[in-house]
Amino acid sequence: MSSPTSPRRISARIGAIAPSATLAVDAKAKALKAAGAPVIGFGAGEPDFPTPEAIVEAAVVAARDPRNHKYSPAGGLPELREAVAVKTARDSALQVTASQVLITNGGKHALYNTFATLLDPGDEVLLPAPYWTTYPESIALAGGRAVAIPTSAASGFRVTIDQLEAACTDRTRALVFVSPSNPTGAVYPPAEVEAVGRWALERDIWVITDEIYEHLVYGTARHVSMPAVVPELAERCVVVNGVAKTYAMTGWRVGWMVGPTDVIAAATNLQSHATSNVDNIAQRAALAAVSGDLSAVADMRAAFDRRRMSMVGLLDAIDGVRCPIPEGAFYCFPSVEGLLGRTIDATVSRTSLEFADVLLDRLKIAVVPGEAFGAPGYLRLSFALGDDDLAEGVGRLADWVARG
Ligand code: PLP
Repeated sequence: MSSPTSPRRISARIGAIAPSATLAVDAKAKALKAAGAPVIGFGAGEPDFPTPEAIVEAAVVAARDPRNHKYSPAGGLPELREAVAVKTARDSALQVTASQVLITNGGKHALYNTFATLLDPGDEVLLPAPYWTTYPESIALAGGRAVAIPTSAASGFRVTIDQLEAACTDRTRALVFVSPSNPTGAVYPPAEVEAVGRWALERDIWVITDEIYEHLVYGTARHVSMPAVVPELAERCVVVNGVAKTYAMTGWRVGWMVGPTDVIAAATNLQSHATSNVDNIAQRAALAAVSGDLSAVADMRAAFDRRRMSMVGLLDAIDGVRCPIPEGAFYCFPSVEGLLGRTIDATVSRTSLEFADVLLDRLKIAVVPGEAFGAPGYLRLSFALGDDDLAEGVGRLADWVARG
């Protein structure tokens, strides 16, 4: 056994992983709340609604069926793989077969499998920023190198072809494309999705398109799936998706990859050694979810839309805060640059990281600093929480800033 001071207790690969900032904020907020503090959590990336009853019932029935008590195929229950293929045609107008679907332990695991399957050491992956905090770590774990491409509120937080072109080298292997985006809520219009897809096709690079927020779009924004609008890209594209956000099923841990059969077969091989099958009960619940209608997500969307507009209005009215209107997902991503360096309540925050800490300490509101998403100067606030908490939490911030 090596001693605690031994320099090689943890591998360099794992030792280099940054902890998930979003989960850290959520854990800190929950611990404070458990200790009795009146914390309002804007940190979590999950719907505040319960999983719809029919889905829960399918899991209860499945738990009583002894067939679900045994190992099942590593790639997923055949019925679920088939249902995901049908759902993909219904929601994305993308025709795929069950052999192009791999069921994973959530969207996060689908991403991990995808990067591990596609990347070799030193491969570069283009990653428009602000990006979800997991991508760079997951890419690095697979030996790849994330190449961040900064975007700004001025361009709607959407990457342009010129930016992609400038960042592309002969080491570029893939592009991560996320619409609707976490953390910015940006949704690419169909013509831009097509333009990015055509560019990737021309450059002969892979696209990993994360569509987990596909049903959470507002106003006139419309989600389209890149391989549906650029069919020639299908051989160079992996779609990542899951039940977490659409059906309020974050804790059930079911997601999937959709891609070319050779990639899916290779990723299934990896998964067969890493985790074997996803929990059968959760897969049966996911089967009920994707085979059912979309009425539950329509109800959630209506509530999120109302909260979105209310949160943007409240935040934007605060002196020093600028909040663009998110078109999808359930996050506001305001700039707080106007508050940095300002003395408020005898505190001065120089960075959004420090500011987020002060907000939790002084105001008991939990937000995720932009640093977690490669975008210092911003905060991410989820609007997937009750209307009263939302108004109370943003109200605390507004009063505090106004008092100065
Ligand atoms: N992709 C994005 C953009 C996300 O925001 C999340 C969760 O926050 C995921 C994937 C992963 O979702 P899951 O809970 O299915 O792992």
